[in-house]
Amino acid sequence: MNFDALETWQREGFEQLTAFRDPRSGARGVLALHSTQLGPAFGGIRRWSYSDLSAAARDALRLARAMTHKCALADLPAGGGKIVLLDTPGVPLEAQYEHVGDLVQGLNGRYFAGPDVGAGEAELAAVRRRTRWVTDPGPDGPGELSAATATGVVHGIEAALEFLDGAADWPRRTIVVQGLGEVGARVAAQLRERGVRVLAADVDAVRAERVAAEVGLELIDPTAQLDTPCDVFAPCALGGILHDVTLVRARCRVLAGSANNVLAAPEHGDRLHARGVLFVPDIAISSGALIRGATFALSGARTPLEEIGARVAAVVRHVLASAAARGEPPARFAEREAERRVELAGAVR
Ligand code: NAD
Repeated sequence: MNFDALETWQREGFEQLTAFRDPRSGARGVLALHSTQLGPAFGGIRRWSYSDLSAAARDALRLARAMTHKCALADLPAGGGKIVLLDTPGVPLEAQYEHVGDLVQGLNGRYFAGPDVGAGEAELAAVRRRTRWVTDPGPDGPGELSAATATGVVHGIEAALEFLDGAADWPRRTIVVQGLGEVGARVAAQLRERGVRVLAADVDAVRAERVAAEVGLELIDPTAQLDTPCDVFAPCALGGILHDVTLVRARCRVLAGSANNVLAAPEHGDRLHARGVLFVPDIAISSGALIRGATFALSGARTPLEEIGARVAAVVRHVLASAAARGEPPARFAEREAERRVELAGAVR
């Protein structure tokens, strides 16, 4: 692990950072636990083709920290963690996920693993064979997690439009959805049900065609998504899409979607703010699955989608109004507020 990752771990107060390599299964990856001050850590298992272990560590650290902040803003008695696995072609997956299950079991409830990119139902079933500390939908679980995220995103967008214009006024809106995966396809469908004109793109052309036919949306060129004028740009693909080069291309009034860590760095939120784009922080708007999964894991209660929508909208309203009252970018306020809540919990303890 390079110095950068250790420096971040130290500077930002992470509780644990573990690199693992299992010679038997071939699993290689990183486990990051950011904070359990508010309660046990929650976070998905991400499998991705990282260039090396350092890139994986960087991602795990950022994602785990974002999970802590999401929990704090959503008032959940929980914290943030993440496991990332290096996707190595040709290495069988089942034994790798079983090894991840052993790691999670070893934490004895400090961390609950969940789905993320590369870890769906089959992979989580392998994890579950080795540990009970998993929040996957399953037949007896909390209910669909991606549906919860999508519902939260749509209600969060509604709150942002009301904040700007006094009303969502759906039928007059044009919304670009980037990524038509588990969350994006559902966001697009819910927006269409409200009469929104939805323009969308996915780099997987087959998937894009299928969702477009099912939901009734217009497909656009994936390379032209950001340049398309619209009321709302909803990133539902990968993080880090807003950086020095792309930022100036944004032609939307609101930027709000499910993708974690949309900003490549915090200053990109400041620059969007200066350009008059209302950026809804992902730690405020993408917590639907977390609310559903963590609530079920901690109390056994199933949270209905309407309640998730209302809770996420309330968080978004609070963040946007408080940031405006202080004259600061919403992303800065959201992060500071989340940190304040975590520190307060630590002090109370
Ligand atoms: P997914 O893998 O099902 O879907 C992502 C889609 O984005 C894929 O179809 C992929 O082809 C597409 N894509 C990738 N790069 C693209 C690009 N440049 N342009 C257009 N399309 C592109 O993932 P998901 O579960 O739908 O999650 C989407 C995002 O939301 C991720 O960043 C994830 O971390 C975040 N998120 C998901 C949940 C959840 O409940 N699934 C919860 C919180 C946050």
